[in-house]
Amino acid sequence: MKQLRTAAQVLTRLGTISALVVSSNLAAELLTLEENGATQIMAKIRATMSGETAKAGESVPWEFSYQQDGADKIVYLDSHLPLTVKQDGEPLDISLYRVKVNHDDALLTLSSEEDADAGGSIMMIGYPGATNNQATRFHANFSEHIVLETEVRPEHPRQIGEEGHKIDIELNTPQELLPTENEIGILGTSSANQPLTIFVFKHDDVQETVSSLIHEHFSWWVKHMNDISEEYRKTNHVPLFSELVIDFRTDSTIQSFKYRGEPRERLKELAKEMRRYKKNNGILGSFKRNKFLLMTEKMMDWKTLGIAYQGGEYAMAADDDEQVAAHEIGHMLNGRHDKADVIYNGWWCESILYWQHIFLRASCHYYTDANKDAITDYLK
Ligand SMILES: [Zn+2]
Repeated sequence: MKQLRTAAQVLTRLGTISALVVSSNLAAELLTLEENGATQIMAKIRATMSGETAKAGESVPWEFSYQQDGADKIVYLDSHLPLTVKQDGEPLDISLYRVKVNHDDALLTLSSEEDADAGGSIMMIGYPGATNNQATRFHANFSEHIVLETEVRPEHPRQIGEEGHKIDIELNTPQELLPTENEIGILGTSSANQPLTIFVFKHDDVQETVSSLIHEHFSWWVKHMNDISEEYRKTNHVPLFSELVIDFRTDSTIQSFKYRGEPRERLKELAKEMRRYKKNNGILGSFKRNKFLLMTEKMMDWKTLGIAYQGGEYAMAADDDEQVAAHEIGHMLNGRHDKADVIYNGWWCESILYWQHIFLRASCHYYTDANKDAITDYLK
């Protein structure tokens, strides 16, 4: 017989009672991963926290628990995080939520059915959000009744035996790849009504599922960009974009592109293919609103993790480090290295657009204020 524990019972066992959790409905049944399984938990999350009810402010606080090292962890669902994930223009059922695990801010990603069927994790939780400067992060990957939780710390450089990588070089768009008069002309309409779309091409050598790429490389970036847009809205009464869209696209030439080699030369060749794709597929709208990114398994050469045109449309990023895609998108939105920084807050972290990556340092998962301003100026 299935036993349903209440939130109150679990909290008693936790020993500490969070005011946040207590304020929610203690009489409600608490689903647990061990007893109910991830599929049932996901169905409940989708039913109570769907985008429509969240927008209408009708979503109710809700939580579930899982066990890690003999202790209960309670995942408290805070709000739906607006992001539309697409495959070749068709929406996928991948959704993101701001959550708390016990007391810590975290992000929850629910996979698409396609990815779950392919044997990927069906739910993923990651720390920290953009406000957490701690060096340690954890990732929890859920299958039906099992959670695999790993703790990630910056590695000691002596164990790695190298000083670190220069991320990339800042590059201007070559003359022949600049936006046409027509593409610049479309800028006229209000930015608040337009989505910001990142067209992502997953290279054939990338093994990760779409859901897992979204979780690792984009979920925290989406949260950060939504925060930047909300900050802008406070003083200007309009957001920076109507919505964020990440659209995974299929193109055999781009997905099998030989990206290894001299990075500037490789990006120029890739950009020609992306431009061809854009034209053939009728992707219209401002060049400021449509960005094209190839995600690769390996680096472009021994020292280059990614490369992008400054304020431009085309980029590539290796999937080794979770800040690289956001770094290259940051360049396309006109962010710069000289506005980035290493920040100390109990531990050193590199802000997204910092020029170098050293293993000892953590990733901040946010742009500095100077780069936030540059990005805001570009998008507004
Ligand atoms: Zn850079």
